[in-house]
Amino acid sequence: VGLRPEYYGRFPHEFSGGQCQRIGIARALALNPRFIVCDEPIAALDVSIQAQIVNLLKKLQEDMGLTYLFISHDLAMVKYISTRVAVMYLGHLVELAPSIDLYTNPLHPYTQGLLSAIPIPDPSIEKKRTRILLKGEVPSPINPPKGCVFCTRCPKAMPLCHQKRPQWQEISPGHKVACHLYTMEKK
Ligand code: SF4
Repeated sequence: VGLRPEYYGRFPHEFSGGQCQRIGIARALALNPRFIVCDEPIAALDVSIQAQIVNLLKKLQEDMGLTYLFISHDLAMVKYISTRVAVMYLGHLVELAPSIDLYTNPLHPYTQGLLSAIPIPDPSIEKKRTRILLKGEVPSPINPPKGCVFCTRCPKAMPLCHQKRPQWQEISPGHKVACHLYTMEKK
């Protein structure tokens, strides 16, 4: 995982955050797994170290044929590493799609809001684009809203959304969404 052999005798406090993350990855690999759950593996790291860790994960994936479940709030990093993306809100899956579909054609209003918040490193594009600002607080997951879990913050909410939980439906091959907007389109 990119650590030097002479570090073998070091104590835990002698490693940096990025090195500790590499040790965590080495511990997971020691079991020779085929599937690894990476739960926010880069959240606590500096941006430059984040890129190193994600590139390490990608290389190990190619070398060892691994599958990752990569959990993150960093949507730019999710785009970089994932082949299929699931979006969750309040503990519920709201959209699932191949990565390219999700980033080019997000269907769920929550996904659209999330993607509109990703910074674009080009000032001319960044200035022109419209951000979708979600209003209100995230409700408590132990007392979710009736109907759609996103209805209290959704800019497109309709009366039906406050009554009935939307069903999961496949809009195009592999692209699924739970939203009444698409139920109505189908009818
Ligand atoms: Fe918004 Fe209604 Fe769709 Fe929920 S079901 S995301 S509230 S439009």
